[in-house]
Amino acid sequence: MDAESLRRVYATLLDALGAQDWWPAQTAFEVMIGAILTQNTAWTNVERALARLRERVALDAEAILGLDPAELADALRPSGYFNVKSQRVRGFCRAYLDAGGFEGSDALATPALRAWLLAINGIGPETADDILLYAFHRPVFVVDAYTRRLFERLGLLAGGEAYEHIRHAFEEALGPDVPMLKEYHALIVSQGKAVCRTRPLCGACALRRDCPAASASSSDSPVSECSS
Ligand code: SF4
Repeated sequence: MDAESLRRVYATLLDALGAQDWWPAQTAFEVMIGAILTQNTAWTNVERALARLRERVALDAEAILGLDPAELADALRPSGYFNVKSQRVRGFCRAYLDAGGFEGSDALATPALRAWLLAINGIGPETADDILLYAFHRPVFVVDAYTRRLFERLGLLAGGEAYEHIRHAFEEALGPDVPMLKEYHALIVSQGKAVCRTRPLCGACALRRDCPAASASSSDSPVSECSS
């Protein structure tokens, strides 16, 4: 995983797709709740759940814990798995308050903050890194399914690497450039949704000239599907 290749992919995606300016949220706490709710569902469903929650209560940890658990679950219904997610949101709110809210948790160094997040029920590496990057502005790289698919097709990942291996490789290559790390993850998601989909639209892809997965079926047509 060399820095030059990763920076070239970044520059190409930024040029082709434009700045994504993530994360779509008004506060750091909203980023945290959104990161929990977006597990296994589309962001549009999270937006609907957050809007329903906002109708009932202010988006802060104390107010959410003051809400009847059944009402919280009902508010989160559009995000799917709403009973599990309401328990996770309540558990996160308790841990967040115990840690001293944003000020208390933000006082932790990144490794300790990451360990604290991972110790909370329902928060795995991807959710923890979403929160670290977009709520706490820490220099971490978020690895998701879009990342694996895109970089495997580009030949920069072999496939099957552990989450931590990929995260470290990207962080080492890109350095602690927080705005770039935020933008890069957002661009990967956008590319994964719009172009490098399950059935990729290689003819419309700005990366196709450097992509081994596109070479077998490369075409000058505006939209073509490659075989990977
Ligand atoms: S050329 Fe095709 S497989 Fe390669 S990155 Fe683009 S869409 Fe994905």
